[in-house]
Parts: sequence; structure tokens; C-alpha cells
Amino acid sequence: MSKKKPKPKPNDVIIVGAGIAGCVLAFHLATADRKVIVFEKKTREEMGPDWCDSVEKEAFSFSGIPPPKGKEKKAERDHAAILSPDFSKIIHLDSYNQWIVDRKLLHERLVGMAEKAGAEFVFETEIVEPMGKGQWVVGVKKKDGKVENARLIVDCSGEERILGKNIEILDLNLKLPETDIVDAYRELHKVDSKDIEWGGHKIEQNVLYYRYGYEKGYSWLNFEDLEHLDIGAGVGKGFSNRSAKAIVNDYINSNKEIQKEKLRGGGGKIVVRRPLTLVWYGFMMVGEAAAQVLPSMGFGTGSSMKAAKIAAEVALKALQRKELSIDGLWEYQVRYIKERGRDVAALDMMRNGLQQFSEEEASFLINKGIFSKNDFEKLINAKYPKVNIFKQIDSMLKGISRPKLMWKMRKVAQRSNKIFSHYRKMPKEYDSKKYLAWMLGHMHLFEEIRKE
Ligand SMILES: Cc1cc2nc3c(=O)[nH]c(=O)nc-3n(C[C@H](O)[C@H](O)[C@H](O)COP(=O)(O)OP(=O)(O)OC[C@H]3O[C@@H](n4cnc5c(N)ncnc54)[C@H](O)[C@@H]3O)c2cc1C
Repeated sequence: MSKKKPKPKPNDVIIVGAGIAGCVLAFHLATADRKVIVFEKKTREEMGPDWCDSVEKEAFSFSGIPPPKGKEKKAERDHAAILSPDFSKIIHLDSYNQWIVDRKLLHERLVGMAEKAGAEFVFETEIVEPMGKGQWVVGVKKKDGKVENARLIVDCSGEERILGKNIEILDLNLKLPETDIVDAYRELHKVDSKDIEWGGHKIEQNVLYYRYGYEKGYSWLNFEDLEHLDIGAGVGKGFSNRSAKAIVNDYINSNKEIQKEKLRGGGGKIVVRRPLTLVWYGFMMVGEAAAQVLPSMGFGTGSSMKAAKIAAEVALKALQRKELSIDGLWEYQVRYIKERGRDVAALDMMRNGLQQFSEEEASFLINKGIFSKNDFEKLINAKYPKVNIFKQIDSMLKGISRPKLMWKMRKVAQRSNKIFSHYRKMPKEYDSKKYLAWMLGHMHLFEEIRKE
């Protein structure tokens, strides 16, 4: 019998970041018996933000993750309401279909599922850059200078985009402008009475309320249970000087029914923009790192889960076929863009356009039904509300009500339609020349709006 110690099996996949995207991806790859290692800079205990997110129910079934239950499932929300920035209009939506999910507990569960399937998690290990060989990404460098290699490297590092931003190819290392970032913040407070009002509207306990367009972003109120209110805001950086935390605190201080002690909460930056290139040679990006958050509402949890499932399916095929070049991984780019990316891109164009409008103009557009119940229902479910908006604008133009604003809005809708169509035309197979031409085309469309 040989006395030689057997060589450890080489890593199939390295994932950087044990957030939602990293955990869902690790779970599926490890379940298929792939050797997966996840590097995470935080401690295990620090994982998962200390709050509850609103997450689309469908993201769980789509991504093959059992739905939340017990304490993890704080509430079920089938109704939401949209308030105009000046509070003059409220639109009730009855196809919300989201769970209010305890993110800490969801995280614990996902890490546990991935570990049970065989994935290795290495906490308190910061990755500083990708390692390359020719055009291939072959490994990662840790903060202590040591290098780890794998056949496939995946950036799931969220807003930090630690690998992507260090790969100088296509748009992977694009420095994101401030205008593509939302400053988000939320706090959970106990309330003394269930008679809570917001701009003259009574807050019902089974409805999630969004004030859309306020401070170039969105604010929300949501009863997590009969006594606890989640108060939050997201502000478009580069569009407004107010912080999300100031907006949340102003509301708390102005309402005597809300106890002053913060029970849970926190904040951070959210990348809200159209998706970046998702694959390269031996490399993928998933989740917020790949700009997969719904730009109009800052929803990134469900989006990351869905993208991670698609990424896992494509990665498994590519590993099996030993075809981890950009051609072998391209299917992820194509499937994600079809499933969600093109809607995200059109909604991003719309967000860019609408953020040029004043609050008064945004209120007028909501008041007059330019954004209808149907549109908001689509928007909140990550679907671009293409046709409806045009019909509304044209009927308003005929009535000559604020024609200048209507023309401005029509232009925003036209551009959003254009970008939606452009994303449909993204090359289905990787061809460097064709893809570059497509990418420049999309950049050009977005530049136009900046010039105005
Ligand atoms: C206040 C607030 C409220 C929100 N509310 C909602 C909501 O209600 N619904 C919703 O769907 N979304 C919401 N979001 C957005 C959502 O939380 C994110 O989009 C989602 O967590 C993104 O998941 P991810 O896995 O891509 O990235 P992340 O969750 O950011 O995970 C990235 C991980 O990578 C690690 N990492 C980063 N750099 C390195 C490195 N160099 N080395 C090693 N590890 C690294 C990080 O520590 C982190 O654990 C909210 C965000 C904020 C800030």
C-alpha cells in the first residue's frame, strides 16, 4: 500500500462573498458534488443584516430554496400601496406576493443548507483581487497574500464587486457613478398605538406602503406584526443631499405613537443599474456585484437568489463539459437577461429619466394615472410596464394637460422601450465584435439621457 498522502481534490469553484447570491450558488453546486469553497470577510455571526426584507415569494420556488417558515417568515404581504411624493394619491396593489423575511435567519439557513451539501465556508477571510493567467481568471488573492485556485471563480461580493472591478476587460471594471447607487436605511420600532398615519393616510397592518419619488427615491412603512413598524428609505445618491437615515429619523421623531428605541435595523449602499457583463474566461458575477437589483425599488434579495440558480445550472453544465471559457458560460448571460435583465435595464432607464423630474412633477404623473395600478404592479414585480404608459401619455397629450411634462415623460418611455428592445437583441452566442458593438450601443443610449 502506498504511504503517499492523497493530494486534496482541487477546487471546482471559488465563490467570493457569502451573501444571498453566494450561499444559493454554493448550495446548488455542492449538491451536485462539486468542490466549492466560499470566502467571506465577515465573521459567521455577523452574517445577514439585522432586519427583515420584503422578498418575492416566487424567488424561493424559482431558486429551489424551500420557503421561509417559523420565525424566519415574519409576515406574508399580498397587498402594497403606492403613495405619491406629496401624498395626494394612493394606489392600492393587490398582487404584491412577497414575504417579509428575517434576513439573519434566512442567512443562517442558507449557510447551513450549503454546508450540509458539502460547501466549505471560510469566514473572516478577505479577498483582495483576482489572479489571472492570460485572459483566464484562475484564482483569488487573500489579504494575507496567499493565493487559492479553482476552475471557476465567482464574484458574489455585493456592492464591493472586489473581483469584477479589478478585471480590466469589457465593462467589468466600470467605476459606477454615484447616480447608480442608492443610500438605504431602515429601523424597526415598537408602536404605542396601531393608529399610525403617513401624510394623512391610515397605515393598515397588512399592507406595505411605498412613497415613490420622494427625495429621488422611495420610503416605506410596514407593520411586521401588530406592534412593530419597519420604517425605511432609499435615496438616489448624486440626486439628493439628504441621507436615508435622516428621512427615517425625521418620521420617527414627528410621530408620538412610535417609541424612540431602535430595536433592529441598519443601512448600506445598493447598486441600482442595468446589469454589467456577467461572464469572462473562468469567471462569473452574481447578485448585487453584477448589478442585478431591481432599480426602481432596491429589491436585491430575490433577484440574487434567481440569478444564483441560473448561474449554478450553467456552471454545472460548463464544469461537466470542461468548457469554462466565455463561450461555455455565455448561456448564463443570455438566460439572466431574458429572465430579468432586460426588465431591469428598461426600469433603470426609466429610473434615470424620472430622477430628473421634480417631486411636484412626479406627484402629477401619479395623480393623473400616467403610472397606473397596473404599471406599479408590474414595476414592483420586476416587469417593465411597457405598453400601458404610452397609452396614458398619449391620451394626456390629446387633452393638452401640461404638454411639456408629457413630452418629457414620453421621451423617458421611448428610451426605456428602446433599451428593452436593445437588450432583446443581445447576441445569443458570444462573439467579441458583436457583443462589443451591442455594449457600446447600450452605453450610447444611456449617455443620451445624461447629456440633457
Ligand atoms: C437598508 C436596506 C434595505 C434593503 N431592503 C431590501 C428588501 O426589502 N428587499 C430586497 O429584496 N432587497 C433589499 N435590500 C437589498 C438587498 O439586501 C441586497 O441587494 C442583497 O443582499 C444582495 O445580495 P448579494 O448576495 O448579491 O450581496 P450581499 O448581501 O451584499 O453579500 C455580499 C457578501 O460579500 C462579502 N464580501 C464583500 N467583499 C468581500 C471581500 N473582498 N472578500 C470576502 N468577502 C467579501 C460581504 O461581506 C457580504 O457578506 C436592502 C438593502 C439595504 C441596504
